[in-house]
Amino acid sequence: MGKLSDILFSAGNFVANKIQQPAVILLYHRVTNLAADPQELAVSPANFDAQLQYLQANYNVLDAAQFLAYAQSGKPFPKRSVLITFDDGYADNYLEALPIMTKQATPALFYITTSKLNTTKEQWWDDLERVLLTGNTLPDTLHININGAAHTFNTVDTAAITGTYYALQAILRFCAPDVIDRAMQYLYSWAGCGSEGRPSHRMMTFDELKAMAASPYVQIGCHTHRHPAVGMLPYAQQLQEIGQSKEILESLLQQPIQHFSYPFGGRKFLGSKRYYNADSIKACKELGLQMVCANYYGQVHSWSNRFALPRILVRDWKEEEFASRMERFFKL
Ligand SMILES: [Zn+2]
Repeated sequence: MGKLSDILFSAGNFVANKIQQPAVILLYHRVTNLAADPQELAVSPANFDAQLQYLQANYNVLDAAQFLAYAQSGKPFPKRSVLITFDDGYADNYLEALPIMTKQATPALFYITTSKLNTTKEQWWDDLERVLLTGNTLPDTLHININGAAHTFNTVDTAAITGTYYALQAILRFCAPDVIDRAMQYLYSWAGCGSEGRPSHRMMTFDELKAMAASPYVQIGCHTHRHPAVGMLPYAQQLQEIGQSKEILESLLQQPIQHFSYPFGGRKFLGSKRYYNADSIKACKELGLQMVCANYYGQVHSWSNRFALPRILVRDWKEEEFASRMERFFKL
């Protein structure tokens, strides 16, 4: 966004938030200490602990059922309401986030992608990092065909490899899951490494997810089976990807799944709805989902679309920075 549109967007939020007290949905992915985190998805356990303590002291943290009830009621949310959400289903959600949530008696909603659960495989964006950025001896050049297009990347030194990593990320995130799988297979043989993932980047096992779901502080939602940008897929495939994750979780956990979040989830990318679109919303309604989160900046009001709610990404902020950002999240 350019400067003027930023100002207009903030001004619009400011007015809406003056008309009605908003709620805010926070988005986390991981709670752990990582040696490297090129996507900045991890919050350290110490910062997460401090953030939850701050929220408990200064905000009204709702659980997913309470948040849904307000969203369905058409009435304003109680003052300073916050919903905490996590995307993807990393093992550290169970191993590191849950003990802190339990200690702080703070609830959160976890959206789970199902295809890599209970496996040693990493999500493709982590896998790409493993292949390119963890010290494998790589050829000087990468020639790769993705979706019928030939690409050549320089991989001669660290700076070039890092650039290649971000470029491939940007291409693959809009590809269908089988195209991503083929690209990764090609990269394994090009780099001379296997497909086995790092333990530090695995998803939960079925047993961990079941134990997680049994906690009074945890509610579970779905996040597609293979994590595609659903807006790139025809309606039938969107229905299938979303529905499959919902079915797997319902059968594993023996509970109805009412919540979903769009993978990546931005509202628009270069002016087009590649992360989700009208078909995505139709698919969610068809599947009986009750509340769906996206991933674009904004606050939630009684008039917000319950099938594309905004969420605000939390980074690895210390308490002081988190506190000042929270103030801003409710105003602008
Ligand atoms: Zn995700």
